Amino acid sequence: SPILVGITGGIGSGKSTVAKIFTILGIPIYSADDRAKWLMANDTLLKAQIKEAFGAESYDSDEKLDRGFIAKTVFSDPEKVKTINSLVHPAVGRDFAAWASSQNSPYVLKEAALIFETGSEKSLDHVINVSSPLKVRISRTLMRDPFRSEEQVNQIINQQLPDEQKNELADFVIKNTDNKLLIPQVLKIHQQLISEN
Ligand code: ATP
Repeated sequence: SPILVGITGGIGSGKSTVAKIFTILGIPIYSADDRAKWLMANDTLLKAQIKEAFGAESYDSDEKLDRGFIAKTVFSDPEKVKTINSLVHPAVGRDFAAWASSQNSPYVLKEAALIFETGSEKSLDHVINVSSPLKVRISRTLMRDPFRSEEQVNQIINQQLPDEQKNELADFVIKNTDNKLLIPQVLKIHQQLISEN
């Protein structure tokens, strides 16, 4: 079975960019955010739990998830955000475990914005944090997502654990400042993970 490695980093840190480099090396990547959306729309158990917690209106007559309804329901209600997270995170955990065990690779990566925040490092062998200065992250995010305001970006940053704390908790740190090369840092970690298996 592959070694399970998480890759995280605050908004705009460059974790998707780093994950692409691992993909080029042939490493299978699981995107927790994409998969969470898919599971909310398709996983029978999770759908039943969401309906039980928020009502049958969570899905329309064609069994399609009503994202607008969910967004409206949890909006600015921290208890409801906790409830939905307490349903979605275990579903992603189960799905990731099943996916990982079917991969033929020395290690696999789980890409997620929140790892330490949700305690999912407990079911991972290692975690990589992609680290960039706050100013750089904000300007990269605003360049990539012109629809977001600086205020919205700061709001997301405030929901995430500070970068310095993630660096302390992580087994590997990839520094993604403009003067640091990513590929050599990725290759070093890749060699180490391969030699472990
Ligand atoms: P999110 O959490 O929002 O998904 P992320 O951590 O996955 O963000 P990326 O999407 O990889 O971050 O990077 C944010 C933006 O910054 C992207 O447009 C990306 O192309 C750019 N970027 C990332 N790293 C670098 C770099 N070293 N040099 C220049 N641009 C970069």
